[in-house]
Amino acid sequence: MVGDRRLRRSLALWAAIFVCALCCSFFGLEVWRAWSERDTEIRRIEETTLTLARSLAQHADDTVGIAGLALGDLVERVEADGMGDRERLTRLMVSAVATMPRLGGLFLFDAEGRWMASSAPASPANANNGDRDYFRRHKADPSPAVAVGQPVRSRSRGHWIIPVSRRIDAPDGSFAGVALVTLAASYFSDTYAPFQIGAKGSITLLGEDATLLSRQPVDESRIGGDSGLGAILHRHLPEAPTGTYAFVSTLDGVERLGGYAGAAHAPLVVVVAAAREEALAPWRRDTLARLGAAGLGSLLVGGLGAWLVRLIRRQEAVEARLQAMATTDGLTGLANRRSLDAALEREWRRAARSGAPVSLLLVDIDHFKAFNDAYGHPEGDACLAAVAGALAGAVRRGGDLAARYGGEEFALLLPGATAEEARRVAEAAREAVARLDRPHAHGPASGRVSVSVGVAAALPGPASAPALLVAAADAALYRAKREGRDRVALAPSLAGFARRAG
Ligand code: GH3
Ligand code: MG
Ligand code: MG
Repeated sequence: MVGDRRLRRSLALWAAIFVCALCCSFFGLEVWRAWSERDTEIRRIEETTLTLARSLAQHADDTVGIAGLALGDLVERVEADGMGDRERLTRLMVSAVATMPRLGGLFLFDAEGRWMASSAPASPANANNGDRDYFRRHKADPSPAVAVGQPVRSRSRGHWIIPVSRRIDAPDGSFAGVALVTLAASYFSDTYAPFQIGAKGSITLLGEDATLLSRQPVDESRIGGDSGLGAILHRHLPEAPTGTYAFVSTLDGVERLGGYAGAAHAPLVVVVAAAREEALAPWRRDTLARLGAAGLGSLLVGGLGAWLVRLIRRQEAVEARLQAMATTDGLTGLANRRSLDAALEREWRRAARSGAPVSLLLVDIDHFKAFNDAYGHPEGDACLAAVAGALAGAVRRGGDLAARYGGEEFALLLPGATAEEARRVAEAAREAVARLDRPHAHGPASGRVSVSVGVAAALPGPASAPALLVAAADAALYRAKREGRDRVALAPSLAGFARRAG
């Protein structure tokens, strides 16, 4: 029974642990999943921006390539035929720009930087581009390579342009002028406009020294200035021509991540950046919704679990009460007859195994019928409870048991006690009752409530039964009654046996 109860108590504990573990692991799993999805989402953003950067770097490379083709064609003609037929050259240049719309304009300057021909509808009077960086570069450097220069404001229309230029040689190899293609900065920003990179995202075209050539969202004031992305050019690009990166912007303090890609044949780099928090906003929304649902689910399961645990506990309490009622005497609070019988049986078997003695005391209140008659039953009940308390106080060892045997009779079971020890306990019990000092006009002991005690001790053997001990104690009790009450008597029939046990 006790084992059963313990099992059930541990059942409530295990149920509580199980429900807690279930809720925690369910919620924990959701948190872990959300976190790993965040990593996946960041990788997806990086891959998307990298793919876009690669495509746009290819686009920038192609654009410079087309400009290079137009320049090659023009330079070849001028080097072969000279700049004499300016009208024909102008027609050719207008036609070239018309067939290649991404070219902003085609220009031809002589060795002094004067405008010789252009695709522009009107040339500014006495215009001279000899002061431009690209012009000075080609004049100083005999290389026939196409150069992409720093952005400048167009002298013809005032908008930002990116110069792509080539040197023209005279037949003797000396400097004869420069052929120039202008690419409008807005051409690139217009190309980048349709891509969704968020309100705080950006697509930037960088030239040499991380100069900002073009950007989406458009910010004209920053064209030609430092893009602030030097780290990509100087740190990342030398390691890999394309890649992903993360940084905190020095301009607005926003954490960004994205991809960069360098053009294969031109000194151009495209950087696609997304603001981390902005790009993760959909993930955050989903995660909050899911964690909210998971939290609610956990709470529900937890609540259900708590309810179940409470039910089990209540059931346990009811069973414990029933158990106590089944084994306890209601009036005195001592063990009842059933418990005594079970304990006697148990202790008898144990003593038979170990060879230890078992003693039993039967205690009977003297002239209790007369007490009831004199003071009434309620007072009799109170007296029974008081005597029970005194007897319970007289047994002190762990295995000892005080029980109500029936009516006004009690039993004290003393496992391991010899006859002599049992007799001493019996005396102590009798004195404890005397000390209650409860008036009993018809009692044998100076008008106070008293008890008579029969003591029997035995050394249980494998073939013997506890009934023997009870009968002996009962006989001793009758002897105590006969000999005048308010006294202790040892079982006469087991005296020899008791001596052996003593
Ligand atoms: P003796 O000294 O020989 O034991 O005399 P006695 O009167 O005690 O013995 P007897 O067996 O004649 O009477 C026992 C009385 O105990 C009878 C009964 O009224 C009383 N009694 C038994 N159980 C209870 C109880 O639960 N409450 C009360 N008040 N009295 C009880
Ligand atoms: Mg009696
Ligand atoms: Mg009696």
